[in-house]
Amino acid sequence: MTEAPKTVRTRVAPSPTGDPHVGTAYIALINYVFARKHGGECLLRIEDTDQSRSTPESEKAILKALKWLGLEWDEGPDIGGPNGPYRQSERSAIYTEYCDKLLAEGKAFKCFCTAEELAEMRKARIAAKLPPKYDGRHANLTPEEVAEKEAAGLPYVIRMKVPESGVCKVEDTLRGTIEFDYAGVDMQVLMKSDGLPTYHLANVVDDHLMGITHVMRGEEWISSAPKHLLLYEYFGWKAPVLTHLPLLLNPDKSKLSKRKNPTSVTYYQRAGYLPEALVNFLALFVTKPAEGEEKFLLDWLVKNFDVQDISLGGSVFDVAKLDWLNGRYLREDMDAAQFLGRVREWALNDDYLLPIAEMAQSRIVRLGDLGGMTALFFQNRIEGLTAERLRDGVKIDELQQRQAYHLVLTQLDGLAVWNKEGVDASLRRAAEALGVKLKDMIRAMYLAVTGADKGVPLFDAITHLGRDIMRERLRHALELLGPPSKKEAAKWVDLLSSEG
Ligand code: GLU
Repeated sequence: MTEAPKTVRTRVAPSPTGDPHVGTAYIALINYVFARKHGGECLLRIEDTDQSRSTPESEKAILKALKWLGLEWDEGPDIGGPNGPYRQSERSAIYTEYCDKLLAEGKAFKCFCTAEELAEMRKARIAAKLPPKYDGRHANLTPEEVAEKEAAGLPYVIRMKVPESGVCKVEDTLRGTIEFDYAGVDMQVLMKSDGLPTYHLANVVDDHLMGITHVMRGEEWISSAPKHLLLYEYFGWKAPVLTHLPLLLNPDKSKLSKRKNPTSVTYYQRAGYLPEALVNFLALFVTKPAEGEEKFLLDWLVKNFDVQDISLGGSVFDVAKLDWLNGRYLREDMDAAQFLGRVREWALNDDYLLPIAEMAQSRIVRLGDLGGMTALFFQNRIEGLTAERLRDGVKIDELQQRQAYHLVLTQLDGLAVWNKEGVDASLRRAAEALGVKLKDMIRAMYLAVTGADKGVPLFDAITHLGRDIMRERLRHALELLGPPSKKEAAKWVDLLSSEG
């Protein structure tokens, strides 16, 4: 293949606000492959403008997960590059400079509305059957009025101006032209009152300054495209080519969510999937291999990828298919020694085994007892667990038990730092909220986590199993006893706040 000129530049721009999501890996894969195919570059940018939700742990986990999948970037916060910094929280001065430019040219304005005023405005517009957007009331204040409000120390945000009428045409690679009436496009906040940019401003400024030629991102961003295109126009910049990718879906066609499916790349790693199998699986959403040719490696995809092959129909995340692929990689791509190497990488290594040895040492009398006691550390769900077994010797009633699993799941999900103290506090908090004795709840937990009557200590076991496997075990237990309806789930979680 002749190499295209090195002009194609793509980016992966995750927000570090949680576990590394398989959706992020899917978007990263497409950006990576598209850049490679065209002899271009793909960079990684951390979009941490939401300071309250972004964490360094999440950033680290995302980088690690993408690397594990073999998706490397050419520039990024960890390796630097000529267009850094690559973390938006380190680029504040740049956004201020560009926002000031828009202000000076009358393309943006200071808005002094309070939260109450905005809520009123919204209500009134809905009542009048108007789009519930900002009505432009501060878009044309005189310089004197602005100075007066500023002198009074009123906080403000900066919003972009949007024409009252007309149509914005968004060209999307997969969808063709999409028309948006400006009448429905909001005067987006560009700078918050704390002087930090919103995603929209930072994203456009960075894509331009970083020389991005192709933006390939999830379809949830389509409605933002008119605002972005308007910003490119205001700045006098050429907009990148836009491709909005279909989202990954649960089997019931709702947006892939961790309540219904494990969504974290770290879960799949921990559960013993191979990175090449997961990449292959994600790639099947965006390419059409011939019948019987579904198993292929990243290099094949780089050669054969065509963005037009991406179908807009749902991309259902079918774990059975991933299992099928993973099994094939294990059987077909390695001899026994290589297989053993992969098992060692996965869990038969000192890092993973030492804490298990510590838990077991004082609790067994013969080394041969080890297997039975510690099998729980080498499984995903506890095999053979039944509803009857889960109720075996449990003193709290069945409703309380289901509530306990759900509340612990919620608490563990919310733990900022995963450690034994946090696990301990999560279980105590759930027992307190339910008004049951911790001791009585622990029996129910023990069965769900270990499947056994006794053995390794519970809090240590949970801590070592980690968030991903714990989520899976609690989901399993809830599936066996009956998961809460949406309404129940919300009501139960309320118990956590009312007791606190
Ligand atoms: N930070 C955004 C996200 O995590 C990126 C969206 C984009 O690619 O423009 O979804």
